[in-house]
Amino acid sequence: MPNVYNWQLGRDMGYPYEAEYPKRQFAFVFNTNRCIGCQTCTMACKSTWTFSKGQENMWWANVETKPYGGYPQHWDVKILKLLQQANPDAQTWTPGDASNPRQPYGTFDGKTVFEAAEKMLSPDSARVLGYLPKDEEWINPNIYEDNPSGKTGIKGQYDTSGTSLPEHKTWFFYLARICNHCQYPACVAACPRKAVYKRPEDGIVLVNQQECRGYRKCVEACPYKKTMYRGNTRISEKCVGCYPRVEGSDPESKGLPMETRCMAACIGQIRMQGTVLLNEDGTWAEDRNHPLYYLVHVAKVALPLYPQFGTEPNGYYIPPRWVPRPYLHQMFGPGVDAAIERYMYPDRELLAVLQLFRRSNRIIYRYKMEEGPKVYEGTLRGKPFEMYDDTVIAYGPNGEELFRTKIEEPIYVRPAVHQNSI
Ligand code: SF4
Ligand code: SF4
Ligand code: SF4
Repeated sequence: MPNVYNWQLGRDMGYPYEAEYPKRQFAFVFNTNRCIGCQTCTMACKSTWTFSKGQENMWWANVETKPYGGYPQHWDVKILKLLQQANPDAQTWTPGDASNPRQPYGTFDGKTVFEAAEKMLSPDSARVLGYLPKDEEWINPNIYEDNPSGKTGIKGQYDTSGTSLPEHKTWFFYLARICNHCQYPACVAACPRKAVYKRPEDGIVLVNQQECRGYRKCVEACPYKKTMYRGNTRISEKCVGCYPRVEGSDPESKGLPMETRCMAACIGQIRMQGTVLLNEDGTWAEDRNHPLYYLVHVAKVALPLYPQFGTEPNGYYIPPRWVPRPYLHQMFGPGVDAAIERYMYPDRELLAVLQLFRRSNRIIYRYKMEEGPKVYEGTLRGKPFEMYDDTVIAYGPNGEELFRTKIEEPIYVRPAVHQNSI
């Protein structure tokens, strides 16, 4: 198996194909602290791409309640268990120098889904460790995920012991998910017909509908379970990254890159999507004033989802600050503690970049800050804190200004005459 460099793991790893990288890569950041589980993103995708016969149980975008739920059910528990069986108690990390962009999370010493497959199975039988979910695991997304239960699991009886942040005994959070358009996609690795491919222009991963014969190897291999089988056409389908919007060819976009449907619809303003510049070795090229580069590589508040799977996912998450740390370490890797610390005590720049989320549907390529007056001085969670009403300006691909916004959001008071009207 060829060796490729996976910067999220801080090391080379085996992958069935030689490395090839797009110049720009589709990527996104989700702030889990803000997600309210409204499923608007889910429905935006559904009503755009998967509303036809045979796609009834297909949710390319989904939001699941952690730790109870998953779509398909228990997808992450199942793949973590398989990895544990393949490499018992050795899925561990060695800490490193967080300032090294080639190894910001240290080094992963365990086995990825590609490496574990080599150990568990004969080389010809499968290139990726995975499993095929049963039909019943796909058909009831979110069922019982938000039903409260007491300590003994009695329905309707609340656990009253947990009430205060940052961590308490009763906890959950919403995990919004789409395909991660991975750098080393397991779906691409597994397809015997090479029907799944990564676009050179933006790294979006697509299934060629003419080539696919419905073997479901991609469904079995994707550790995030983001390729899905369509029974009436007998081929597989997956999130297309809303590529007509991203490339600006959708009539709505008027020639300018536009964020995807699930991003643009987000009520909680948790989502930002863009395309990031890559170096020749697949690491992120320094692009200091790109908002995604800033969140992932400078502030380091956004972390990859299950980096240990080894696909180098391009979906990054700001972890929920109230959730027990061992759970988060498993889900987002060793960067969790520093990310939450930084998010809980944001500096001027982080506050400004967080204001860029969902002010526009246009893809942001660069931002600039203009300093404003001090508007608050006091303490935040016991630490001294100052806040400034800075302005942050977002620019598009050709340097054009997309919008500008401030730290203090304007307050609009509805005139008395409209008090009872909408
Ligand atoms: S998340 Fe799954 S379907 Fe999407 S690119 Fe990665 S391996 Fe493929
Ligand atoms: S990027 Fe587009 S296709 Fe993919 S989940 Fe979001 S809305 Fe659906
Ligand atoms: S639209 Fe946004 S806030 Fe609502 S569930 Fe989706 S990601 Fe969460």
